[in-house]
Amino acid sequence: MPMWDDILGHEQNKEFLARLLQPGNRPHALLFYGPEGIGKKQLALRFAKTFLCQKPDEHPCGRCESCRLINLAEHSFAHPDFILVEQEAPGKDLKIEQIKEMSRQAAFAPALSSHKVCVIDAADRMTVEAANSLLKLLEEPPPNWMFILVASRLERLLPTILSRVIQLRFDQIPLALTQEALNRLGLERPELLARLAGGSLGAAVNLAAADAVSYRDQALEFLEALPLAQPMRYVASQPWLESYDKQGGLLFTEMLLFLARDVLLWQNGLEEQIYNCDCTDRLRRLAASWPASHLKQAADIAQQAYQAIESNAGAKLVLETVVLKTDILRKEER
Ligand SMILES: [Zn+2]
Repeated sequence: MPMWDDILGHEQNKEFLARLLQPGNRPHALLFYGPEGIGKKQLALRFAKTFLCQKPDEHPCGRCESCRLINLAEHSFAHPDFILVEQEAPGKDLKIEQIKEMSRQAAFAPALSSHKVCVIDAADRMTVEAANSLLKLLEEPPPNWMFILVASRLERLLPTILSRVIQLRFDQIPLALTQEALNRLGLERPELLARLAGGSLGAAVNLAAADAVSYRDQALEFLEALPLAQPMRYVASQPWLESYDKQGGLLFTEMLLFLARDVLLWQNGLEEQIYNCDCTDRLRRLAASWPASHLKQAADIAQQAYQAIESNAGAKLVLETVVLKTDILRKEER
């Protein structure tokens, strides 16, 4: 029976995990590793819920007391035998306090299920102190605990931790698979969405919901408008500069970054890797008129703007600066 099939791909790993649902010798620590955004954490959470479910044969049943206490859709976890350690915000390290908080639970036996499951997301972002604290737990695991570490960069984990976990490698999901799933959901421009999302179905659905393509279109129009004859007049006359809020500013700068990336790829003959597959003629024209060194600087401008907006700088001011700086860049001598 297919299990966890709303998470794309990873069939071998799913089969391995399905076998762990059967009673028997189970490893007490697993590591899911592979690129970002391909469903590792989602599968870890789904597996944990199934593992703790009182009727795991139903993968999970969704109705038992255990299932009701793990609400994946709302990211709400009240289950006494389930612990999720994750970054407090994107880019943050996992701190020793977070691991210690988890260790404190070791004094208590599982309350509802036969096991406790701890998912440690972004395990490669543990501080050295946090990693050493986790290592102690892995060296003498409390009875009936199962740890699932999730990481994208194996080389950032202590070798002593790596030697105590069963490693499951997760590979990039084939683009065609994501595209097919988006198609089934009835979303427009599935190939473009799949590429912009780097193959991640969840990210692609979010991009569609946020109407990311309209921001991409605006970013493309902006690049094509350069060089500006009257920069200040342009800034004053563009409604999008007025209307984009934080979310809009983030999407615009992200799409601008992707476009700069794509034009660079085009210049290097790597057309098959571009994200914006629906506007190759326009990318080709940009590739012919932008020097590569300026494109890299334009990408830097977009990236810095993204970070500024993310740390709550006003979107309007940041975007106006992007316009003026990129325009100056475009007018520079080759
Ligand atoms: Zn259940």
